[in-house]
Amino acid sequence: MRDDLLSIATGVWDFLKRHADEFDTRNWQLEWLGFLPGKRESRRYVGDHTITQADVEAGGPFADVIAYAGWSMDNHPPGGFYEPGEPTVFHPAPSPWGIPYRSIYSRNVANLLFAGRNISATHIALSSSRVMRTCAVIGQAAGTAAAIATRCRLTPREVGRERIDELQQRLLGDDAYLPAVVRRPTAVTKRARIVASNAGARYTVGRARSVYPDDVVVFAGGLRAGQRTSIEWIHSDYVADPEALRNGVDRTVDEADNGYWCAPGDTIEYRLDASPGEDDSQSPPRCLRIRFDSNLSRHYEDHRMKYHYPLDDPGTPVAETLVREFTVEVRAAGRWDTIAEVVDNRQRYVRVDLPDTPMEAVRLTPRATWGAPLVHLFALDLE
Ligand SMILES: Cc1cc2nc3c(=O)[nH]c(=O)nc-3n(C[C@H](O)[C@H](O)[C@H](O)COP(=O)(O)OP(=O)(O)OC[C@H]3O[C@@H](n4cnc5c(N)ncnc54)[C@H](O)[C@@H]3O)c2cc1C
Repeated sequence: MRDDLLSIATGVWDFLKRHADEFDTRNWQLEWLGFLPGKRESRRYVGDHTITQADVEAGGPFADVIAYAGWSMDNHPPGGFYEPGEPTVFHPAPSPWGIPYRSIYSRNVANLLFAGRNISATHIALSSSRVMRTCAVIGQAAGTAAAIATRCRLTPREVGRERIDELQQRLLGDDAYLPAVVRRPTAVTKRARIVASNAGARYTVGRARSVYPDDVVVFAGGLRAGQRTSIEWIHSDYVADPEALRNGVDRTVDEADNGYWCAPGDTIEYRLDASPGEDDSQSPPRCLRIRFDSNLSRHYEDHRMKYHYPLDDPGTPVAETLVREFTVEVRAAGRWDTIAEVVDNRQRYVRVDLPDTPMEAVRLTPRATWGAPLVHLFALDLE
């Protein structure tokens, strides 16, 4: 493979130089050639389910979804460079489509999980699932499943049969996204009273909406996909209601914003008043989990992983919507104590450990964003 690829690369270089007048390549210099052949497709394992093109087109609505993909099915022919036809044929795929747990453990090796491009998928389904971020979220699912399997002394298949709900909820709790699966906020979060300083305030807010090209593909299930789908920002009126912070969906999905808006300096508080028959102060929550908005809809050129860094490179900016400065306080015996004061946050998902003592309330104050005039949060959970 290496020799073949080198002969192709040097052949193209030879062609460019021999036609220097035509391509303006007289002063071009060959600096570097990669010597490690990158292979797109090699061995895959067979799981209890093999994902097919039809699964992708149906959006993968699997009950045991543990990850998602969203890239189109860009099919490369086996002939590669020597294929006389198109080098790539793009088959649109709905975005996102769900990946089932049954495709990431082995059908016949009892203790084998896999993650990445080696999962149980056909050639066409793989052409969508193989991209790096998808491989990464499958890795998170495989690692979490392995932890459950080890703790409960189960095989990977038994985890799927006996503990799929726990696996999905653990992943959602760790800020993974699973299409159509809703995170269940913890009991202490649901029991607490949520109080926001700006409740009822009105703002005009922006929300991203997918705009499909004229050649949009509509699949049997009504899902849509297009090769050049773009994003349009629409503005709408919003009335502040902090209940969105515990609705269990931590990103904007289609027309549903699922977030909570406020101004820097506003506060959101969970009051742990004892309910009849229950006394939260006896078992204080251990941590506060916050999901800020890292603007997943921004144009990919603004935040993609760079492959070269010029000397005057300004660096990849942090999403303007992300909260940069915030404070977390705890009230005990009527007194507020600051337990976290963060001034340079760059994370979407932040976990703040709480003191191991009885408390009456926990308060978050977002103080500044990385540029956006309003603060947008997706979730606030006590655990
Ligand atoms: C040319 C090319 C271009 C691509 N372009 C893009 C792109 O633009 N965007 C995108 O998102 N994706 C792209 N992809 C796809 C993506 O990069 C791969 O599918 C993905 O990185 C695969 O990740 P992985 O962890 O499954 O496998 P790998 O990255 O292949 O990792 C497997 C690792 O296992 C190691 N290993 C193998 N055997 C053993 C062993 N016995 N013991 C220990 N270690 C072992 C290997 O050395 C390797 O490091 C591209 C792929 C190729 C080949």
